[in-house]
Amino acid sequence: MSERTIAAISTPKGEGGISVIRISGGDAISIAERCFRSVSGRKLSSLEGYRAAFGKAVRPDGSHIDEAVALVFRAPKSYTGEDVVEISVHGGVIPARECLAAVFAAGAHSAGAGEFTKRAFLNGKMDLAEAESVMEIISAKNAAALRLANGAKEGRIGKDIERITEKLLFTASSLAAYSDFPDEDIEGLDKESFSAMIDESEAAVKKLISTFDSGQAVLLGVQTVIVGKPNVGKSTLMNMLSGNERSIVTKHAGTTRDIVETQVNIGDITLILSDTAGIRETDNEIESIGVDRAVKRVDTSALVLAVFDTSKPFDGEDMRIIDLIKGKNCIAVLNKCDLPKAADCSALRGLDTVAVSAKLGEGIETLCKEIEKVCGAASLSADDTVLLNERQYSCAVRAQNAIINAKEAFDSGVTLDAVTVLIDDAINALLELSGKRATDEVAEEIFKNFCIGK
Ligand code: GDP
Repeated sequence: MSERTIAAISTPKGEGGISVIRISGGDAISIAERCFRSVSGRKLSSLEGYRAAFGKAVRPDGSHIDEAVALVFRAPKSYTGEDVVEISVHGGVIPARECLAAVFAAGAHSAGAGEFTKRAFLNGKMDLAEAESVMEIISAKNAAALRLANGAKEGRIGKDIERITEKLLFTASSLAAYSDFPDEDIEGLDKESFSAMIDESEAAVKKLISTFDSGQAVLLGVQTVIVGKPNVGKSTLMNMLSGNERSIVTKHAGTTRDIVETQVNIGDITLILSDTAGIRETDNEIESIGVDRAVKRVDTSALVLAVFDTSKPFDGEDMRIIDLIKGKNCIAVLNKCDLPKAADCSALRGLDTVAVSAKLGEGIETLCKEIEKVCGAASLSADDTVLLNERQYSCAVRAQNAIINAKEAFDSGVTLDAVTVLIDDAINALLELSGKRATDEVAEEIFKNFCIGK
C-alpha cells in the first residue's frame, strides 16, 4: 500500500447534480474526518466499509462548506484496494474546489493523472488490460463501444491471455522433458503433438488479433469522407445521416468550400464524418483549396462515401471520382433515386453500391447497414474478446511472430532449447499485454493518459 494519501475531484469540473471528492490511502478516513461532520455525530472512523454518513463538509477551522455525504470503503474492498472515502457535495465548481482544498489542508496530496486506477493495478485489483478498459468505458462513443470496454473490464482479455500462456508454458515444459529424455517413449511427447500444441496457441493469438480492426472502428470511430461532384447531394446526405443541418445545402454548385466534420452514430459504429468541397476542376481559388483537401482526405480516410447523382448521365468528373476511389474502402452512394434514372452505372461495377434519396431518406437504412458491414462491426459477436488499443495489439503481434518463429524453428529441427526461448518470448509479450510482466515505464505511460480523479 502506498504511503501518500491522495485526493482529487472525480466528477467533471462544472455544474451538475453532485461533485465527488475521492480520497485514497492509509490516512483517507482520518483526513476525511477532519473535513466532515455527520449529522448523527458518528465519526467516519467508526463506520464499516460501504457505509455512508450525511452531514456537512467543513474547512479545517470548522467553517461550513456545503451539505455532504461521505461514503467509506475499507481496504481492500475499494476501487484502489486502499481505504477510500468519497465525499459528495452539491455539483458545482466552487463547493467541490473548497472541499478539495479542505482535504488537502487536512493532509492529503494531489492525485496524479490516473493515480487511483494505477493504485488499483499495483494493489492487484485489476490487470493492465482491465485498467485500460476503464478509460474506454469513460470515453465510449456508443453502446457497442461500452459493451466492448465492459467485456475487457470483466477481465475477458486477461482470461484469454492466461489460457494461451498456460498452453505455451505446458508446451515449453513438455519440450524440456522431451529434450531431457529424447529416447523415452512418453505419450503426448512427439513431434506431431508439439506441432499441434504450437498451432493451437498460434490460432488462439490470431483470433485475438483478428477482431482488432473492427474493435477500433467501434471504439475510436471511423474517419469517413463524403466525396462527389458539386450538387450531387453530399451535404444533404451528411445532414440526413447526422440528423441536423450542419452542412449548408443550396442549389448553387460549390457551396461547401471547406471540410465540415461531425460525429454520427450508425448502429454500432461512430463515423467521424467529413463533408468536402465538390470535386471538380475550378478557377475559384478558395473552392480549389477545398477540392485539394477533399482529394487528400480520400487517401487518409478509413471509409469513403462517394456520392453520385443518378438522375443525370455520368460525365468526366464522375469518372475522375470513380478512379479516385478505386481500391479504397468505399461505398458508392447512388443518390436522387426518387428521380428518373439517367446514369449508366456500369462504371461502378465491382464497387459496393447503395441507392438512396438523401432528400427523402429512402435507402438510408440500407446504407447504414452497409456501413456497419464494411467497417466490420457487423462481424463482431458479443462473445468476442477485443483488444482495446495499439499497445495491446503490438504485444499480441509480437507473441504471434514469436510463436510462428518457434514453429519454424521446431520444424527445421534446431535445438529444442532455441524453440523454448522463442516460446518464452511469446509468453513475455502476452504477459506484458495483461500487465503481469509490464515494466514500470509501460505502466507510467498508460496511466499518464488518464484523467485526474480516475
Ligand atoms: P452537394 O453540393 O453535393 O453538397 O449537394 P447538396 O446536398 O447541396 O444538394 C444539391 C441539390 O440537390 C439541393 O437542391 C438538394 O435539395 C438536392 N438533392 C440532394 N439530394 C437529393 C435527392 O435525393 N433527391 C432530389 N430530388 N434532390 C436532392
